[in-house]
Amino acid sequence: MNVHIEDRRLLPIREKVEAGVRLSYDDGVALYRSGDLLAIGYLANLVRERMHGDVTYFNVNRHINHTDVCVASCRLCAFGKQKRDPNSYTMTLEQVWETAGKGWSEAITEFHIVGGLHPELSLDWFCQMLRGLKERYPQIHLKAFTMVEIGYFARREKISVREVLERLRDSGMDSLPGGGAEVFSERVRRIICDHKLTGDEWLETARTAHELGLNSNCTMLYGHIENEEDRVDHLVRLRALQDDTHGFVTFIPLAFHPDNTALSHIPKTTGFDDLKNIAIARLMLDNVPHIKAYWVMLTPKIAQIALRFGANDIDGTVVEEKIYHDAGSTVSQSLRRGELLRLIRLAGRTPVERDTLYRPVQRTETAFTVLV
Ligand code: SF4
Repeated sequence: MNVHIEDRRLLPIREKVEAGVRLSYDDGVALYRSGDLLAIGYLANLVRERMHGDVTYFNVNRHINHTDVCVASCRLCAFGKQKRDPNSYTMTLEQVWETAGKGWSEAITEFHIVGGLHPELSLDWFCQMLRGLKERYPQIHLKAFTMVEIGYFARREKISVREVLERLRDSGMDSLPGGGAEVFSERVRRIICDHKLTGDEWLETARTAHELGLNSNCTMLYGHIENEEDRVDHLVRLRALQDDTHGFVTFIPLAFHPDNTALSHIPKTTGFDDLKNIAIARLMLDNVPHIKAYWVMLTPKIAQIALRFGANDIDGTVVEEKIYHDAGSTVSQSLRRGELLRLIRLAGRTPVERDTLYRPVQRTETAFTVLV
């Protein structure tokens, strides 16, 4: 197909993409600086279809946010609260196990579990939480804890990250969701999340998880104070780690939601920037199998269009989302399986329900089988 490329600076990039040659840091910056969104989307779609054809994945999952109490006060965050805040909450173990079973009728395949950095919950408590979930829901994959939570558990317990990961894995953690990466630039992190892991520590934690046989996702929070170079640097550092470990399953660009954060003066991202981030991720991360258009952050409408701009996954049913709703997300907290199917089909794509590790799932309403 001969697509008109308006921005002549993209012509050498097009040649590389067509020949399957890896893009450089400078190519990434050129892509971000270009306004030729349709050309960038076309190139990303080329790669997406080369890797996945028309197939578009989704899953039937439930989020669990066990506490919003957090010792960090990241300026980017509307979710974390001080323990003394009367609006904060922390579930008991019984409440976590009970919540896990609520809000869904179609059998779910994954629990996505993340929370704040609670000063009093011990690693034993989290191990018990995982074991209790596995006992009650043995078939459901436990995708749990950001790299930031893992780092905090290690600091709190005065043990290594490796030991934390081993203990969580042995208690039932199957993989990690890959949050807390934000943007790796130290200049940016000092302003938006100065109490968090450094970028290098985030990457090292992911490396250790992968070495222990735990897959993870990876993310980038964009649309705050980062610049184009910061974004490309972030992608290139993820790509370098992936060359070593092959442990990342999917990349999720996360649009910053400023409402109720200390950065509420920053305008929300635009659809143009959202689609560009999806597309550039697909082009730069040539070794990460999947790119996800997370509908909670993008809105289902933009996420659907993203399926033609490089994304091959639209995320899942979610059931109950708190983190981005605290930051002003106005979309529904959940989408039914049928609605995900409709969005994918109306984008001209072929829906495939997957488990967390992208194995196809065959189901009835109340049961499922993972096709290995
Ligand atoms: S972003 Fe995470 S670590 Fe930072 S305040 Fe919010 S919940 Fe805590």
